[in-house]
Amino acid sequence: PTKVEYNGNKVNSIAIKEDRCMYCGNCYTMCPALPISDGEGDGVAIMVGGKVSNRISMPKFSKVVVGYIPNEPPRWPTLTKTIKHIVEVYSANANKYERLGDWAERIGWESFFKMTGLEFTHHLIDDFRDPAYYTWRQSTQFKF
Ligand code: SF4
Repeated sequence: PTKVEYNGNKVNSIAIKEDRCMYCGNCYTMCPALPISDGEGDGVAIMVGGKVSNRISMPKFSKVVVGYIPNEPPRWPTLTKTIKHIVEVYSANANKYERLGDWAERIGWESFFKMTGLEFTHHLIDDFRDPAYYTWRQSTQFKF
């Protein structure tokens, strides 16, 4: 515990030894007001296509389609511009009522990246498969 200046008053708080911080995230997930203190690496990733619903296709995880956008509060201009662009390309090309993940799977993720103009890098490759993926029933969808 230490005293810090807050609104002109000295208040009890904690101080982080920045040289010992390994960015594990335990503190700021418990205390969202705590700023993430890595000024250089602080950024935002965009994930799309995930869904919980069983409608039409099985539930699926989102995929990372943009690995890093700088954190630019309070209006996040790069982030909002990128999201707006993704949504506009999706809405102009998907079928009516087709969800983004279903659209991307129908046209192929390669086409998704071509159409949106987003850069595909090896950091975005998602080849993780738990063995349960092939053996467990994961949805209420049936094929007779
Ligand atoms: S992120 Fe927070 S809890 Fe984790 S090492 Fe850094 S200061 Fe400690």
